[in-house]
Amino acid sequence: MISEIEKNFYRITLRMPYRLKHVNAYLLAHDKELALFDTGLNITGAYEYLANDMANKGLNINNIKKVFLTHVHTDHCSMAGVLQKKTGAKVYLSKAAFEEYQHFCKADSTVKQLKKFYSRQGMGSRQIDAVIEEYEIIRDIIDEFNTDNFLQNNETHDFGDWKFEVIFTPGHAAGHTCFFFRKKSFLLAGDHILPYIAPILSPDIFDDNFRPLATYLDSLNVIEKLPAVTVYPGHGNAFIDLKERLEDIRKHHEKRKRMIWGCLNSEPKTAYTISSEISVSAVHNFEKFMALNETIVYLKELKAEGAIKEDMTDNVLFYTRIKNTG
Ligand SMILES: [Zn+2]
Repeated sequence: MISEIEKNFYRITLRMPYRLKHVNAYLLAHDKELALFDTGLNITGAYEYLANDMANKGLNINNIKKVFLTHVHTDHCSMAGVLQKKTGAKVYLSKAAFEEYQHFCKADSTVKQLKKFYSRQGMGSRQIDAVIEEYEIIRDIIDEFNTDNFLQNNETHDFGDWKFEVIFTPGHAAGHTCFFFRKKSFLLAGDHILPYIAPILSPDIFDDNFRPLATYLDSLNVIEKLPAVTVYPGHGNAFIDLKERLEDIRKHHEKRKRMIWGCLNSEPKTAYTISSEISVSAVHNFEKFMALNETIVYLKELKAEGAIKEDMTDNVLFYTRIKNTG
């Protein structure tokens, strides 16, 4: 469904068969040329749906000349390749996001690393196979694209009368980027800040030193400094209470981190054991996988803070509490 937020600026809400049910793309128009921010999910009929939706407002999908991506999660980027092939659009994203995408597309090395990473966290091989199956389904959805149009942090882009700044906000995903329209005081936030839920954080299976929570919280601070009034998120409705939302998200993470710490004592536990304790309602393999990822994110942070200890036995990581604050 497309709606005109203001003259030449549109929100397009696209369906998807996941928990969040829909994803938002945004569209700028200048004369006949169009720039699309995120693309929606590449499911059957998605391109035709987008074309029809745009036609309802007199917009021609073939006029999309630029596609800007906030990050490379499937629901935001998987139509970029389709659009590039059909309309000749140039694709813009951060170099870090593109590298993440290239990693993701290399099936063999990703499957190998998935097995190694999650077996170390105490996950059983049958569940790891289910995760790999899920990965392969998601990978098949992404239509490959090419680009060397890498966004630079804080640079300004012009699109006709529109001007916007590139704001790097890594955390939710590697190379995540927001777009700030200073003159209009609005922010296209991707999945960096969402109205109803705290955006999901996950470990980087290729980089053990990556601290998703610390990185994400730093990126919240970056956004807090911008004079943004209205936030247009990747999921859900626009909102204006940015400061309040930032506080709620910070509190959420602090609370969850303390809860994970509360599960630990002197008895060594794997991340998988801890995640099963905190997510008893998770039934499906994918839910269990998400709970495990969340647990790993907080364990990484607690370890970096010196509150817990990590030891490897027979290629499995075990965690214990080493002090009484967390
Ligand atoms: Zn995302």
